[in-house]
Amino acid sequence: MQDRPLLEVRDLHKHFPVGKKGLFGTPAQWLHAVDGVSFNVMRGETLGLVGESGCGKSTCARTLVGLYPPTSGEVHYDGVEVSHMTRKERAPYRRKIQMIFQDPYASLDPRQTVASILAEPLKIHKLAKPRERKLRAMQLLDAVGLNPRHIHRYPHEFSGGQRQRIGVARALAMEPDLIICDEPVSALDVSIQAQVVNLLEELQERFGLSYLFIAHDLAVVRHICDRVAVMYLGKIVEIATRDELFENPQHPYTRALMSAVPHPDPKIERTRERIVLEGDVPSPLDPPSGCRFHPRCVERSKVPGDRCSMEEPMLDERSACHLG
Ligand code: SF4
Repeated sequence: MQDRPLLEVRDLHKHFPVGKKGLFGTPAQWLHAVDGVSFNVMRGETLGLVGESGCGKSTCARTLVGLYPPTSGEVHYDGVEVSHMTRKERAPYRRKIQMIFQDPYASLDPRQTVASILAEPLKIHKLAKPRERKLRAMQLLDAVGLNPRHIHRYPHEFSGGQRQRIGVARALAMEPDLIICDEPVSALDVSIQAQVVNLLEELQERFGLSYLFIAHDLAVVRHICDRVAVMYLGKIVEIATRDELFENPQHPYTRALMSAVPHPDPKIERTRERIVLEGDVPSPLDPPSGCRFHPRCVERSKVPGDRCSMEEPMLDERSACHLG
């Protein structure tokens, strides 16, 4: 791994307007989906991004690949600020950051054969001459463990796991450095999930890829990630190496999440105590004051006074909590 991050995200915000008011139709409210997120992904590294549904993980991913313009903040790719570039300026960088989606069927055009699904990015980005595209597409299918002779089949002729492999092949066609995997195995049968995770690991080794791996299944995250960032209501509340995070979580929210994960050691597993979080994640339309986790935090009473509800804790090297 090099010293300079491949991807550097600085104080990224993504807010969406909700409703309209007044003569000029100004937004009635703003949905704070991503609210000041900073992290790095190094070359060859897998960074996990975890948190409950609706915490902003997928919006963050979509903002990073340029599907949404950021409200503010910066995204640096290999030292170059890319988030405020025009579409044309950004084109060479867009190819280098690819995305794999949760539902492979929805992300593949059912009217196109696999040959044309894989040839299209090669054509658009001029990565292969016309006569080379079919061979390249067959090589990509082989790389993801599918039979290259099935290149003229349509997506519906493949199983769910095979379709996700086609999604991976399409991302690889662009010769990326970083792949953002947005819940890539959660729609698959448990027996197939391990195969796709193993494939991602093999491809990382072979092509030197970096991954931003978004998932809610912490067992999968523990298996594949080098470091893990925990998101709650649009913010990162803890970031640490996988072992630090799973063995010694610091933030009360992380502790609650980790308490639900079975431990591989049967002795430790017997003594595992589950921390059950009360209530739902508050609305990102009106996030709580101070620490956003305070209405649900079971450790809040350890902090003197009203500090938790009044003052927002900043993310230090490890976690964002007044308990330190
Ligand atoms: Fe809990 Fe207070 Fe820490 Fe927030 S700052 S996680 S409310 S103890």
